[in-house]
Amino acid sequence: MAKTAEVKKYLAYWFQLGKSVVINNGTATLLPRKVLAGDEYSAEFEECWQKIVEAPNICHLEGTHETIAQLLQPEWGIQSCARCSMPVPMRHVGMPSTACPCFDLETWPNMEIPAPRGPVNSQEKLFSIRNRLMKN
Ligand SMILES: [Zn+2]
Repeated sequence: MAKTAEVKKYLAYWFQLGKSVVINNGTATLLPRKVLAGDEYSAEFEECWQKIVEAPNICHLEGTHETIAQLLQPEWGIQSCARCSMPVPMRHVGMPSTACPCFDLETWPNMEIPAPRGPVNSQEKLFSIRNRLMKN
């Protein structure tokens, strides 16, 4: 997966837990109400993402210090949170503890609410099932 697509997916999880992206140290915040539409990202989320990629150096995630531009640098990678396996950006040296959307949620993982997720690509899923069957 391309690096920008990983950061985009991370943001989708971030927004689904009601956390925003802050622009220009607080002159505006972005938080789409709807992140997914069926199997794809919603138009509202795509619009936010456009604003973010146009000025990634002045956008940062609420409660964190890194800008989106920094997360797009090669020294950052998207891994799974050790606690709940949501995607989380990690610097190759050490880990920012506040970066996972689950940080500061005391009751997490929470099985009572729908889990945040990325868009499902049914086509890709079908291909992988077909490939598995063909191997047998
Ligand atoms: Zn987590």
